[in-house]
Amino acid sequence: MSVTIFADRHIGTTSATQAVMLEAVGITAEAGERPLDALMRRAVPSSIYASRGTSAALPEAASEAEALAELRELASRNTVNKAMIGLGYYGTLTPSVIQRNVLENPSWYTAYTPYQPEISQGRLEALINFQTMVSELTGMATANASMLDESSAAAEGMLLARRASKVTSPVFAVDAGAFPQTKALLATRAAAVGIELVEVDLARGEALPEALFGVFVQYPAASGLVWNPKVVIEQVHAAGGLAVVSADLLSLTLLASPGSLGADVAVGTTQRFGVPMGFGGPHAGYMAVRSGLERQLPGRLVGVSQDASGHPAYRLSLQTREQHIRREKATSNICTAQVLLAVMASMYAVYHGPTGLSAIATRTAQMASQLAKSLVAGGVEIAHESFFDTVTVVVPQRAAAIVKAAHAGGYLLHLVDEDTVSVSTDETTTLEDLAAVAGFFGVSAPGAFGLAALEIGKLPEELRRTDDFLTHPVFNVHHSETAMMRYLKQLADRDYALDRGMIPLGSCTMKLNAATEMAAVTWPEFAGIHPFAPVSDVEGYLDLVTQLEGWLADVTGYDAVSLQPNAGSQGELAGLLAIRGYHLANGDTGRDVCLIPSSAHGTNAASAVLAGMKVVVVATTESGDVDLDDLRTKIAANADTLSALMITYPSTHGVYEQDVLEITAAVHAAGGQVYIDGANLNALLGYSRFGDLGGDVSHLNLHKTFAIPHGGGGPGVGPVAAKAHLAPFLPSHPLAQRAEHAGGFVFEGGPVSAAPYGSSGVLPISWAYVRMMGAAGLRDATAAAVLSANYVAARLRDYYPVLYSGEGGLVAHECILDLRPLKDDTGVTVDDVAKRLIDYGFHAPTMSFPVAGTLMVEPTESEDIAEIDRFIDAMIKIHDEAQAVKAVVWPADDNPLVNAPHTAVSVISGEWAHAYTRDEAVYPVASIIRTKYWPPVRRIDQAFGDRNLVCACPPIEAFADLG
Ligand SMILES: *Cc1c(COP(=O)(O)O)cnc(C)c1O
Repeated sequence: MSVTIFADRHIGTTSATQAVMLEAVGITAEAGERPLDALMRRAVPSSIYASRGTSAALPEAASEAEALAELRELASRNTVNKAMIGLGYYGTLTPSVIQRNVLENPSWYTAYTPYQPEISQGRLEALINFQTMVSELTGMATANASMLDESSAAAEGMLLARRASKVTSPVFAVDAGAFPQTKALLATRAAAVGIELVEVDLARGEALPEALFGVFVQYPAASGLVWNPKVVIEQVHAAGGLAVVSADLLSLTLLASPGSLGADVAVGTTQRFGVPMGFGGPHAGYMAVRSGLERQLPGRLVGVSQDASGHPAYRLSLQTREQHIRREKATSNICTAQVLLAVMASMYAVYHGPTGLSAIATRTAQMASQLAKSLVAGGVEIAHESFFDTVTVVVPQRAAAIVKAAHAGGYLLHLVDEDTVSVSTDETTTLEDLAAVAGFFGVSAPGAFGLAALEIGKLPEELRRTDDFLTHPVFNVHHSETAMMRYLKQLADRDYALDRGMIPLGSCTMKLNAATEMAAVTWPEFAGIHPFAPVSDVEGYLDLVTQLEGWLADVTGYDAVSLQPNAGSQGELAGLLAIRGYHLANGDTGRDVCLIPSSAHGTNAASAVLAGMKVVVVATTESGDVDLDDLRTKIAANADTLSALMITYPSTHGVYEQDVLEITAAVHAAGGQVYIDGANLNALLGYSRFGDLGGDVSHLNLHKTFAIPHGGGGPGVGPVAAKAHLAPFLPSHPLAQRAEHAGGFVFEGGPVSAAPYGSSGVLPISWAYVRMMGAAGLRDATAAAVLSANYVAARLRDYYPVLYSGEGGLVAHECILDLRPLKDDTGVTVDDVAKRLIDYGFHAPTMSFPVAGTLMVEPTESEDIAEIDRFIDAMIKIHDEAQAVKAVVWPADDNPLVNAPHTAVSVISGEWAHAYTRDEAVYPVASIIRTKYWPPVRRIDQAFGDRNLVCACPPIEAFADLG
């Protein structure tokens, strides 16, 4: 046994400092009561306060060493066979310089979504490199900064086509050559919103339906066939529809781009650009569109704007598309995407450059050619001659036996049907592999031959790529490891992540992502597994999944959990689809109204629309709670059509609402189902359970409550948890190793992610978190998080009103500071305060969500009192500065607040002509003199960037004159 307890490392405050904080909050424990429980007993409504904590299903907390040993044991029960299954997942060599300096580097993995662009220039540059890489390889005008995976990107492409096409037909044609998981996901998403899918064998020249709003093409096809979709695209255009092409990014270094063939939308995955398979994820999907469709793009789009000195600076563009503003009219529900993985894939392209990528693609294609040649020479038939990396082999009645023999020999091939096997090559394929594979088909291939003499498979001449790509210097200079290491360091240095200080973002739970939790992610037994590997290869993974599902069910009071959704938004969609399926199975075909409080997270409304529901907004009272009277009115008005209520508990206002039991009972009485958004579970875990509050289904955010790092805006895992009656409607998957939820999903298919277990590769993180915290540790974490938020509220209340609180004046795990009175009084805006915090060495709290003109502060349990006090002191000092502006000590248009943040160059170069001193500008408190974080740019002009939309790497001359 270790002498150190992990929970004590994870929780930043100690019992001694907690005593100080409790006193500041005004809490005293009764005799025999734990001080933290005294706080929670007062904060959580007595009607739901279950002081029993989590149940016995959670094991005793393990030490870090014990958890690692158990993970080693689980890993040892996974078998890393050489996967040549293809279907969108390929072996890849992660350059060590990228693994070490990005994937394993907290400067990258602990960063948040770049909502505060001045402190996010590094990851924004990496993402604009990603967008440039995708748009140039696909030949499209504009690419976004990642999608959740290939199949969901295809679904988003289908929905985009429906929005952008003027055709009224509900028909969307799907290529018979699409990947099976993509077909299944398209079927789920289409059924939910009334789209009719028609499968067409496009490569064989089967005719398209007469009326349709779009077509989906897989290029190359799942079988490996390379064929020219140009005619199909022209036909769809003639019918008024759009063409969505899913393209293999590596093949596009050799093949004509979708853009050059006329595609409107290109989608796909960037997994094989150096991101391990990880049993299905996380990986960055991509989407790119032709010119004219950029304002239809879902997800996040990085653009170039300028800062207060007129210098180029990056930021998220077209913010108006965000679900928070558009809500049920949003283009999609995607919030968390796959930023860390997009950064990895873009750096793979930066490191290899266009020549290196072409060489990797060429070698991959040569390997496939050589395999085909050997098989044909040995008398084995192959299905088609034109392919990039996948050879489909015709072996009547022998397919299963061949796949089995290959498995025994350490190789995974794809069993297409009883007569057909396909084999995909990749960057890792060797000549020895080819000889072994040929052997499974009964052919002895020459073992030692050079590749130099090989030609690339018979790619049609008309489909050879002729145009350049990745000509920007960034893809052509960082090719030595030294240069790459320094580029990654330079970018990381521009950013503020948890390795610099606290990120008190309300609603985001930026807690510690412990090194031990991260350790297993890159172990080959977890990283090197294909999502469609046979069940016997993934016993360790499946055990880990089962254990984690069981623990999550236990702590939430639900009966079944699916880990498939790869973000909170996808968990919402899965949960709402389960509700819809349940009503339909009961014959309740008219139940399609989803009640959503006006304070809800924007993804809620967007997800409800994607689940085919109608959103009816429920008012919020002045105190921030759900308006019970309005709820009853809305329930009555929709008595026959009520499908669900979606509420967040504690609320997005960071408050434990008193009436939650009444609310859920009212919905049930009217025949509705209750969806509890579990993103705020960090305020409840161990003290109460959604299932006991009347919830029927919830999603959790493992990247908030369960320690998966945010990665600069992804990865995420958004498991959906449900009561038994909804369990049969949870996501299934046509290629799942286990059929746990393959019950009666009424929409054909059923998956919401491309992989059966979603982003499995990061599940060891949450597993380790729960394993090392144990029930008591999780409970302490909750109380410590709630204490820290209340401590901030108590100490800042006199300077900034705390907008909402519960009965005893207490908040939950976050508090909303109202800055509107300060603005009215002094003219200083919430923006000024957020940017000024950068000068003090802080990441701003969540700005203007869920209420405009406010800051929502969530310290989490991981911050210690010194860091929290430093933040409080900064906020008080900023309040003083605002008073100085009011008193005209400083003019309204020239003070440290309006000019914040201050770059080094802005205080060093030229004359200092401001009303305040240089020291006041950049060293407002002496404690930061040695630790100063220097923002690389001044305040960024958001509107300029939206008026002048540039979403690819700017020419380097743009940075030439940074005086
Ligand atoms: C974060 C959050 C979500 C969305 O989660 P993503 O993983 O970003 O999709 C939904 N609801 C609430 C209340 C949240 O805070």
